[in-house]
Amino acid sequence: MSREAVLEVRGLNVDYGIGRDAVRAVRDVDLVLHRGEVLGLAGESGSGKSTLAYAVTRLLPPPGVIAGGSVRYRPAGGGDPVDILTLSPQELRRFRWAELSIVFQGAMNSLNPVLTVHAQLTDVLAAHRPDMSRAARTARAKELLTMVGISVDRLGAYPHQLSGGMRQRVMIAMALALEPEVVIMDEPTTALDVVMQRQILRQLVSLRERLGFAVVFITHDISLLVEFSDRIAIMYGGRIVEEAPAAELYGSALHPYSDGLLHSFPALRGPRRELTGIPGSPPDLAAMPRGCAFSPRCAKSFEPCGVRVPSLVASGEGRSVACFLHAGAP
Ligand code: ATP
Ligand code: MG
Repeated sequence: MSREAVLEVRGLNVDYGIGRDAVRAVRDVDLVLHRGEVLGLAGESGSGKSTLAYAVTRLLPPPGVIAGGSVRYRPAGGGDPVDILTLSPQELRRFRWAELSIVFQGAMNSLNPVLTVHAQLTDVLAAHRPDMSRAARTARAKELLTMVGISVDRLGAYPHQLSGGMRQRVMIAMALALEPEVVIMDEPTTALDVVMQRQILRQLVSLRERLGFAVVFITHDISLLVEFSDRIAIMYGGRIVEEAPAAELYGSALHPYSDGLLHSFPALRGPRRELTGIPGSPPDLAAMPRGCAFSPRCAKSFEPCGVRVPSLVASGEGRSVACFLHAGAP
């Protein structure tokens, strides 16, 4: 796989609200997505995963504001990179779906209930490829449905006539309609059962092998990511606390929080692990602890942890971690 960056997030900060009452939901995030890779983003509820995804795609709902940073996108074929955060509304309309698409958390309920699958798929094509004939759009809609494992005779179905998993697949078909370089998928963890999630993720991964797009897959369930992603980034309290190739992270998580997450879900494959979970609850973003946000819950917390925020530093083998236990080598 090429190591060329397709998306580069630098110093991203996102707040909800402004001034003193602002909730700082994403803090100093640096993240690189390489062309064609599957990057898993995991973290407990409220850690800022969706906020990060919305900010990157400029779909942040109010009162969300991007308080700083850049999101650089490099088109395929060596075109000029663009900073998504500075695109005009018109540029953004052209950019979304065509270059980068997102399948939202709760996507299975975000299809338009009064439009058939055919209409929703062809609308995306019509908006971006005005020269495509009606027949060509229908042919492409059929091809897309087949690609995600839905029979073409469901083309005339309305969303309520489909199961949750099928609606999710239709959303994926829409996301792939214009062959974007990047697909961000915010997993509806509560809405679909584990088996269905796994099936959908497996399908997405095999499609990316064929089509070459890169995926950011967001979930609470790190065991899913261990199985399907190339790299994993772990978020806690709005920050990335660890990033590593999936196998390395599974082998040994460096951050005590990542380690806790790995022991919070049963792995489907591989040796059994004791499930211990993580004591305590996620931090209140409105009243963040001093120092490392995880330190109040961390069994390995020591003197610097409650004082300073550890920064994310490289620790060899393409890994990085934000933890004073590993801050030895600069
Ligand atoms: P989940 O796994 O539950 O989807 P998440 O990691 O996606 O969680 P976000 O939805 O990004 O988390 O939320 C991050 C933080 O921002 C949370 O603490 C949340 O309370 C806060 N937040 C989200 N939306 C808003 C909003 N509209 N106004 C104020 N705070 C918000
Ligand atoms: Mg979310």
